[in-house]
Amino acid sequence: GGPRRCRRLEGEAARAALANADTLLFDCDGVLWRGEAAVSGAAAALERLAAAGKRLCYVTNNSGRTRAAYTEKLRRLGFPPAEPRHIFSSAFCAARYLRQALPPGAAAYVLGSAALAAELEAVGIPHVGTGPAALPGPAPADWVQAPLEPAVRAVLVGFDEHFSYAKLCQALRYLLRGGPECLLVGTNRDHRLPLEGGAGIPGTGCLVKAVETAAQREAFIVGKPNRFMFDCVAQEFPVDPARTIMVGDRLDTDILMGNSCGLTTLLTLTGVTALDEVRAHQDSGCPARHSLVPDFYVDSIADLLPALGQ
Ligand code: PLP
Ligand code: CA
Repeated sequence: GGPRRCRRLEGEAARAALANADTLLFDCDGVLWRGEAAVSGAAAALERLAAAGKRLCYVTNNSGRTRAAYTEKLRRLGFPPAEPRHIFSSAFCAARYLRQALPPGAAAYVLGSAALAAELEAVGIPHVGTGPAALPGPAPADWVQAPLEPAVRAVLVGFDEHFSYAKLCQALRYLLRGGPECLLVGTNRDHRLPLEGGAGIPGTGCLVKAVETAAQREAFIVGKPNRFMFDCVAQEFPVDPARTIMVGDRLDTDILMGNSCGLTTLLTLTGVTALDEVRAHQDSGCPARHSLVPDFYVDSIADLLPALGQ
């Protein structure tokens, strides 16, 4: 009990926390790897956890890869074998959400990647819109003449490198069309994707905001920090929150979701967060900011190795 303190997880506390857990949920980028480079020692730590009988699941806001592509990336970077059912990406979880929220036969207009389209197809949801949009006419005001797909009952926004004004127009047309309600769903709100050397590229949150602004309504967000992502894990596996550790590098997604779902939260400093930011939240006296404070931190998940008997 008591407030979360963000203590370094080492020694006896590390052994106790790991002994008390039977499931670990790993955020991917910034925890297991950065881009294409594995975090040094991370694969060895996961090997030991798997050998100790822990259930390992992967929970990522990236909607740009299929579950199969994640299992392949884990394999390529030397992590213990994972099956697609252990991967909970915002693309897969968005497909799950729409399958439950849409009536049979309803389709989605998708601003997103081929991977997002593939996850929709895997659950049988027809879709239109992915890939570069052709300009439907010489001026935006003419574009409202372009045909709309009658079966569309949802606009889904994910990471879309072909995002354009024409697609934004089309999304708004579906959302404003009369008749049955059209859902507005976003995969995640990450505002920026950090690259090496302090550089960054705009994240999916920017695209979701554009559609929300046009439509003047709020999207349902599938990804972290929404607990929907944890609920997807809990529907697939018998996870006890009190015996589950969420490992992440981002406070406003990974740690916030873990804390709000009653998980033990572990911040790793190999990604986007520095310890100073956590300390500032702790010292703020603001309850909302306290929900961003993890129970524990490590410099890297490789630091768990000694507690795992190595
Ligand atoms: N969204 C996109 C498009 C990304 O490329 C990434 C990281 O590479 C993320 C989100 C964040 O992913 P994660 O939740 O695994 O940190
Ligand atoms: Ca991350």
